Amino acid sequence: MSRYTDANCKLCRREGQKLFLKGERCYSSKCALERRNYAPGQHGQARKKMSDYGIQFREKQKAKRFYGMQETQFRNLYEKAAKKAGKTGENLLILLETRMDNVVFRLGFASSRKEARQLVTHGHFTVNGKKADIPSMELKAGDVIRVKEKSQSSPKFKEVKEMSITVPSWMSVDVEKLEGKIVTLPTRADIDTPVAEHLIVELYSK
Ligand code: SF4
Repeated sequence: MSRYTDANCKLCRREGQKLFLKGERCYSSKCALERRNYAPGQHGQARKKMSDYGIQFREKQKAKRFYGMQETQFRNLYEKAAKKAGKTGENLLILLETRMDNVVFRLGFASSRKEARQLVTHGHFTVNGKKADIPSMELKAGDVIRVKEKSQSSPKFKEVKEMSITVPSWMSVDVEKLEGKIVTLPTRADIDTPVAEHLIVELYSK
C-alpha cells in the first residue's frame, strides 16, 4: 500500500486533530487523519507523557498551523492581543478570525486558508470598495468584502456561485453578488477553532 505523506497532513497528524489545510480532501475519506490517526515518524505510535510545557507548546503549534501562520507573525499577533482590554486568549482568537485570509475562507470564497491567502495576494478582493491584497489585514465590524468585478467571471468564482454556503453568525454572505460582510466582531462563543487558548497564554507568559 502506498503511503500518503503530504506535508500538510503530517501537521494534522502531529496535532492529532484535523486542521483543514487541504480543502475538499479534509472532508473526504482521503483525509490522512481518518486513515492514520497517530503522529508521523518512526515513533509516531508510541505513547508519550507530555510535560506542561509540551502541552502548551503543542496547543500553540496547533493554533498557528490551523491559521497557517509563521511563528513571528503569530507572536506579534499575541502581543497585540495582550495590549487590548479583556482576555488575551480571546482577543488573540478574534484577531486571528478577523484576518482578511481567514474571513475569505469563512465566507466560503476559498476551500482552505491557504487558497484564501493566494486569492487575496492575487488581488481578487476589495474591502469597502478598495483594493485589499494583504492576507494579514485586520477587518472590523461593518467591513464589506467583495470579489472584484473583473474576477467574478473566473472559473473559480463561478464555481463558488453554485455552492450553498453557510457562514458563522457574525458574518453575512450574498453568494450571487460574491459579497460578504462582517456584521459584528465574533465573541469566543462564535469561534469553533479547536484550541484551548489559555494554554497559549500560559506558554507566552512564562
Ligand atoms: Fe490532510 Fe486535511 Fe485531513 Fe489535515 S484535515 S490530514 S490537511 S486531509
